[in-house]
Amino acid sequence: MAIFSGVRKWVYPQSIKGTWQKVHRWSALGFHLFLIVTPWIYIGGHPAVRLDLPDRRLYLLGQIFTATDGLFIALLGLSAAFMLFFVTALLGRVWCGYICPQTVLLEEWVRPIEKFFEGDRSARKRRDAGPWNFDKIWRKFGKWTFFMLAAFFISMSFSQWFAGAYEIWTFQAGPVDYALVGIFTLIWFADFAWFREQLCNYVCPYARFQGALTDKHSLIISYDATRGEPRKKGKAQGQAGGCIDCNKCVVVCPQGIDIRDGFQLECISCARCIDACETVMSRFDHPTLVRYSTEAADTGETKGLRLLRPRTLVYAGLLATLAGALVILLLTHGTIEAQVNRAAGTNFSVEEGMVRNTFMVRVANNDPREQQVTYHIAVDGLPDPTVIVNPVTLGPTEARTVPLVVRIPEASAQRSIPFKVTVSSEDESVTLTTTFAGPEGQASGG
Ligand code: SF4
Ligand code: SF4
Repeated sequence: MAIFSGVRKWVYPQSIKGTWQKVHRWSALGFHLFLIVTPWIYIGGHPAVRLDLPDRRLYLLGQIFTATDGLFIALLGLSAAFMLFFVTALLGRVWCGYICPQTVLLEEWVRPIEKFFEGDRSARKRRDAGPWNFDKIWRKFGKWTFFMLAAFFISMSFSQWFAGAYEIWTFQAGPVDYALVGIFTLIWFADFAWFREQLCNYVCPYARFQGALTDKHSLIISYDATRGEPRKKGKAQGQAGGCIDCNKCVVVCPQGIDIRDGFQLECISCARCIDACETVMSRFDHPTLVRYSTEAADTGETKGLRLLRPRTLVYAGLLATLAGALVILLLTHGTIEAQVNRAAGTNFSVEEGMVRNTFMVRVANNDPREQQVTYHIAVDGLPDPTVIVNPVTLGPTEARTVPLVVRIPEASAQRSIPFKVTVSSEDESVTLTTTFAGPEGQASGG
């Protein structure tokens, strides 16, 4: 691989304007708003979205999820995966072309900065081939400085999602958060200055899955060889095929490939080559030779896009089921998180005709209203129990583990009696199930 063999062929994509580049601008605007603005939105006193890793909490749309909400977090991950599968089966690599941070940041930050300092494709090529004179040094230095600033801004913006927007920008986040900002700034800088298309070609696993996720009906960007071939340098349709071999679709490609060679895994569906060919063909009043199509349409098997296929229907069905389950969980998600466990190293003890068990109850205040809450713990399902436990008062997002001592008459004890522990606040209660241990054969059936 070129990346490891040191024979990388540097790609100098030429700038291009066109319809699909306008779509890029809009999707990039949406990406930046989502990345930068979302962490500033608060619902009920909490970030609308924030993954608090040290406290293992996910704030989502006014709810707080903790490590014990494994089902919700698993469903969230699965939904995201199936959403990507579904969109890929339907629209090919639309994610790569329009939404992926790598593509968006290269298009919106790296290429404009590079063009500002070093000019367009031919100027950059010429300068890179020349000696390291003053002109080349200050331009490279200026470009890298701005790459570093962009990398820092992007890393800070990503960190908002974990450390909190206000905290990170007012430098009140923790040292670990800023250490991560520093590490990610260096990674982004290396990507902007050097790695670029190699990330898609050699690192990104999504690119490798394309073959499994798509079929001949998935949307791809392809060259219309029927109209285009045989290509002829400088001549429009009539004398030969439609392609005038101007190479415009090749020089704009950020992946350094020639779309006329057929579908290639390196293609990120950015549609730059469509805009390039459209610009050229419009001069001859001909439609573009590079366009969105499908493999089936190219071979004449179908006309247009076939949206309803077994693959897309299965993905859509799974996605709808997962999304429905997520919505139900989100709507019914409680504000009390509670767990009960037997106190470490204990089973039961017998004293003065009573059998005693000790448990540890962990209670967490996940009330999104940011208020102090008092929780009461009660026991149900045991014969004549004596319960020793104090109410627990917790501040917002606070958690505490308290002892719960339960005693029942020895005559009623059995080897194992299932019973319920209820943790309740004024508004809500959570019921947990555990077992009471006792000496064998005390009561009937024991
Ligand atoms: S071939 Fe076209 S769509 Fe594919 S990466 Fe190159 S310019 Fe983008
Ligand atoms: S831009 Fe169009 S005409 Fe020019 S080489 Fe590419 S396919 Fe042929």
